[in-house]
Amino acid sequence: MKKRNRGIRLIAAAALTLGSLAPVAAAPGAAQAAVPGVAKNYASLMYRSLTADATMANLRATLVKQQADLKKRSADATKAQKASVGAQKKLATVAAGHAAVFEKLKSAERALTDAKNALARQSKQKPRNNAAIARAKRAVTAATTVRDARRTRLHQAAAELRSAKKIAGVTTSAVVNSLASVGQTSAAVEQTQNRIATAGTAAGYAAQAATISRSVVDEVRPVFTVADTTSVYGTTVHKNIAYAFKRLIDDAKADGIALSGGGFRTKERQIELRTINGCPDVWTAPASSCRVPTAIPGRSLHEIGLAVDVTSGGRTLTRKSKAFEWMTAHAAEYGFVNLPSEAWHWSITGG
Ligand SMILES: [Zn+2]
Repeated sequence: MKKRNRGIRLIAAAALTLGSLAPVAAAPGAAQAAVPGVAKNYASLMYRSLTADATMANLRATLVKQQADLKKRSADATKAQKASVGAQKKLATVAAGHAAVFEKLKSAERALTDAKNALARQSKQKPRNNAAIARAKRAVTAATTVRDARRTRLHQAAAELRSAKKIAGVTTSAVVNSLASVGQTSAAVEQTQNRIATAGTAAGYAAQAATISRSVVDEVRPVFTVADTTSVYGTTVHKNIAYAFKRLIDDAKADGIALSGGGFRTKERQIELRTINGCPDVWTAPASSCRVPTAIPGRSLHEIGLAVDVTSGGRTLTRKSKAFEWMTAHAAEYGFVNLPSEAWHWSITGG
């Protein structure tokens, strides 16, 4: 078994079909709708089994990406928090500066009022003191200049305060957003970890499928129609085992084993075969009594597309063939069980 090659093909297959649990679902028609739920469950379990390794590889790769993302987002959040703390400090400084400038303006306005009052008082003095009036006027002019300068300064300080408030607001939003982002990524990491912890194994899913394979046969047989079959590399099988059978052919081929076979056949053909294969009669004699073992019509799993007579290189499988050896080692992974009396006959129950 070339494990590495198989792994690569598994991942490629999963990349195409991951998320869909009905890989062989054809366009739903009336006939397809009659396929029992147990058969669909079987197909789903086999699909999960055959993609379990690829699913796990994808989950692990996703986890690595999400953890790297979480690290980056956490670092971004730390940066955003630092920036926010800096912006708040700056805002406090600017606000204090603005308050001081405002107080200075108030003081300049009071000084101007005082200077104007002094000028008014001086102007009413008798006798008139022109020198004192001129001094008082200069004092008013000087106080006005100071007041105007401080007014201008207050406008600047107000603009700085608006800007600092805006930056503080933006950095606060950035912190909120970055923390939300950390939360989401952290939840995604946890979800992936849970999926990894609870993911089923290939063997586990195949074992589950095996437990319902007899029910599949029992429930498919009464409602089966030819429309429930499909061709896999020229072999006609039930749609619900098509994915597994195709994977079996592909993986065997990758191991150097060419497999093919005869799958579905009609009841009419089964009746013909009973004669061709030298059975004592068509309807009652056991399969083992025929020259070539052939099931009684109505009982063969070939008639519902759930059995394949496997060939390799155009030859029917024998117990000594390499293909039989490969099938014995691996067929169960694809849900196929051998009928001990016929080396070539493989079905989902071994019947
Ligand atoms: Zn057969």
